[in-house]
Amino acid sequence: MPKNRPNPSALRYLWQERRTSTIGIDQSGVWRFRDLLPIVPHDRVVTLREGNTPLYEMPKSAAALGLNWLLAKHQGMNPTGSFKDTGMTAALSVAVASGFEWVACASTGNTSAAMAAYAARAGLRSMVLIPEGKIAWGKLSQAMDYGSTTIQLRTDFDGCVRVLSEIVQRAPVYLLNSVNPYRLEGQKTPAFEILEQCEWQVPHHVIVPGGNLANCSALGKGFAEMMHLGFIHRVPKISVIQAEGANPLYQSMQANGGASLEPVTANTRASAIQIGNPASWKKAVKILVSTGGWCEQVSEREIALAKAEIGAEGIGCEPASAVTLAGLKKLVADGRVGKEETAVLLLTGHTLKDSEYTIKYHLGELLTEAEMGSAEDRAQLNGLRHAPIVLDADADAVLRAIDSQARSAMPA
Ligand SMILES: *Cc1c(COP(=O)(O)O)cnc(C)c1O
Repeated sequence: MPKNRPNPSALRYLWQERRTSTIGIDQSGVWRFRDLLPIVPHDRVVTLREGNTPLYEMPKSAAALGLNWLLAKHQGMNPTGSFKDTGMTAALSVAVASGFEWVACASTGNTSAAMAAYAARAGLRSMVLIPEGKIAWGKLSQAMDYGSTTIQLRTDFDGCVRVLSEIVQRAPVYLLNSVNPYRLEGQKTPAFEILEQCEWQVPHHVIVPGGNLANCSALGKGFAEMMHLGFIHRVPKISVIQAEGANPLYQSMQANGGASLEPVTANTRASAIQIGNPASWKKAVKILVSTGGWCEQVSEREIALAKAEIGAEGIGCEPASAVTLAGLKKLVADGRVGKEETAVLLLTGHTLKDSEYTIKYHLGELLTEAEMGSAEDRAQLNGLRHAPIVLDADADAVLRAIDSQARSAMPA
């Protein structure tokens, strides 16, 4: 942090100006905020022009919820398709400046994709530890494509973390896990962008998926800094949404207001948040308490439905990101989010990260009978399914198919 208190209006102007520059660090949506990043020097920054992601309106979801307004900050529109890029550009630059040859992480998939890409750009070697069979193909393919040494361990994410912590004790490897403080610095910048994109009108709510719980903490830090520096006069309520099968923070908040956390064995199809022993849970509790947000949990059915609804907006996201809309429904239903209030959903990953999930949903093969719930729930899920139609190579057959689609109601 600079010693002299920066002038907010001068910085707001500078940050916008940099976007039109031809210099890499100016074009990055992380490094254009470098005045507030405690990372120097800037001459060897590793950037793929991350950040500067869109803030989309979600008119269909807003109408369905009776809200005036609903926004989605799509962090899946980053270079490797998830918000992890914003943290990785910062931490990888530190690894380079510190002279490391190897970087490593344990990952549910997106961290490994981001680390592999940035390490390749920097000319460093990278090693990822991922749980065998528990990450989405899109993410695994990225780690290999960017040339990482990809090691699948016969354990879960939490087991990968345990093994990696031993490795870094025994070998000179730079650890890029989400507790890395520089990752948090990079991941706070979407908070600045949200404010910029809302013309410095502070949204009432920001809703974030919760896995290892670093991202909600980083965003909370970003908003808090904006307030302390006088850019804004209040912060949004930050709420964290977990999958029912990976809900240690939810359970902790219910049991004792976040005083202690009992790890769980995590089980959800939203693989990016399949984490039972989150590293940053204490920070997350502080953010929930200090901003007045809530922690909610959502079922596999609720996640699948919300993901289809986000797809139907023409946006799409990976399953873990869809918990935000599913959670918002609960917050609206019991009046915690008001109809007049502005909520921003943080969509953390791109829809192509886990196309297997999407295809299974549309073929009706995703959920078990028990998960699909009541007849009404099932009808709602089926209403958004668009399985491919297989026909002979015949124009009449195609036209008949279009006609019958036109007769059925417009998709929601
Ligand atoms: C990493 C990740 C999360 C979880 O973020 P945490 O900081 O671990 O809570 C959510 N969604 C996606 C797509 C991710 O890649």
